[in-house]
Amino acid sequence: MIRYFFLIILTALNAVPVMSQNCPSPLRKSNFSKMTSYDELSDYVQKLDAASDLLTVGIAGKSPKGRNLYTLLFSSSTFGKDESKIRVLIIAQQHGDEQSGKEGALMLAEELTNPLNRHLFDNIDLMIIPQMNPDGSEKNERLNGNGKDLNRNHVILTEPEIIAVHNIFNKYLFEVTLDVHEYYPFGETWKKLGYRKNIDETVGPVSNINIAESIRTLSYGSYMPYIMDYFRQNGYKGLVYSPGGPPGISYLRHSTFDINDGRQSFGIQNSFSFIQEGMNGKDSFSDNIERRAKGQMTGMMGLLNYVHANGSQIKDIITRERHNLISEKPGKKISIQSEHVRTGEKLELPVFSYSSNSDSTVEVSDYRPEVKSIYDVIKPAGYLIPRNNIQLMEWVTRNQLIRTDYSKKRGETIEQYEINSVDSIDFEGDIIINPSVSVKEISKSVRPADYLYLPASQLRGNMIVLALEPKSMLGLATYKEFAFLIRAGEKYPVLRVL
Ligand SMILES: [Zn+2]
Repeated sequence: MIRYFFLIILTALNAVPVMSQNCPSPLRKSNFSKMTSYDELSDYVQKLDAASDLLTVGIAGKSPKGRNLYTLLFSSSTFGKDESKIRVLIIAQQHGDEQSGKEGALMLAEELTNPLNRHLFDNIDLMIIPQMNPDGSEKNERLNGNGKDLNRNHVILTEPEIIAVHNIFNKYLFEVTLDVHEYYPFGETWKKLGYRKNIDETVGPVSNINIAESIRTLSYGSYMPYIMDYFRQNGYKGLVYSPGGPPGISYLRHSTFDINDGRQSFGIQNSFSFIQEGMNGKDSFSDNIERRAKGQMTGMMGLLNYVHANGSQIKDIITRERHNLISEKPGKKISIQSEHVRTGEKLELPVFSYSSNSDSTVEVSDYRPEVKSIYDVIKPAGYLIPRNNIQLMEWVTRNQLIRTDYSKKRGETIEQYEINSVDSIDFEGDIIINPSVSVKEISKSVRPADYLYLPASQLRGNMIVLALEPKSMLGLATYKEFAFLIRAGEKYPVLRVL
């Protein structure tokens, strides 16, 4: 019943966007012949700001090479002040060689200054960060100016671009987020089998199973059918984000359940959060950039139309689920090791066949769309961070986590893990550490002044559990920067308070 309701409303909004010609994006101005440079982007956003009463341009932070991370704030009032509005964050080009995200985001900004789209801002405050990685973009390289992959940095938060975007998130607590990327269809193994993936746009909802079920249900049950239809109506082929493969060699999965990316690091704070990946060109700089950029823009516009039509429902769910996170009592099960499993569902994968030079589909039988927990822990009341552990203390600060001094309350017990041995486990095809641990109660021997207390009942509470549990597949200790936390035969420095 509810589904039909959405479809009726949304079909009316599915008109192909009409372009504003007043202030064309640099790519459009070049007649899709030249990618937008950082300097051109800087000039363009200022020009657009001057031309539009909806737009305010700001700077979230700087890249390692000193380039600005521009924020484009669209609001019909003062951005972030009207609590009844739903706040949306779109970020693009964390990977510098994925140019179509930036170009699509700039075309979206242009499009949003068109009076025909003004109604969107009746109930939406939108921030766009069109270029998360200007240093990488200038060299058309994936990594940032420090040689780091920004989209693997959202848990350890060591890079200035990622610290900046999380500070912005913490300030406005966006209810809806979209992280725009490209996927690479031109793999050698795929080519040997005679085909490549052939999808204009893939969209991935949140998939870590610690994220509230109501958010996952709305994402898969309502948003996904909507956005796939929106792509189809605008002439693009869409599919659920399905990494892995090729079929017959390796399984395809719905997603990753890791939380170190732009989608799930916001999602784990109970946000309505997505990744969108457009198809990369053979030469990411110029091949078919008009279609790629427009495809990316179409996905972003589709999200805004959906949020506009369903804003109060999304806002209600997010408000409730965030309240649950903040007020949660200890004792809930948190999945810290998971795996993708089959459901019997088969995936029809659109491909391009090199032999027949035409579009085709491949049926993927080893398709694993569901995430299942294989190891849970009980969520504690909080964790104790040793103050003499500088790396951990700085991580707490960079994450802007709620923390206090510690004074032991009546009835509280404090536990410490001991690392017996360090084995390994398969994590989406990679081998990572899997320590075997035992737990000791050490309540009496803890000196409160030596520790900082992190309550688990906060917006990032589930992230804290996933980051700090030693057996977590997504834990800090799986990063080389924090590998020192786990050594066989030693005690784990972070304590649990129950
Ligand atoms: Zn990417």
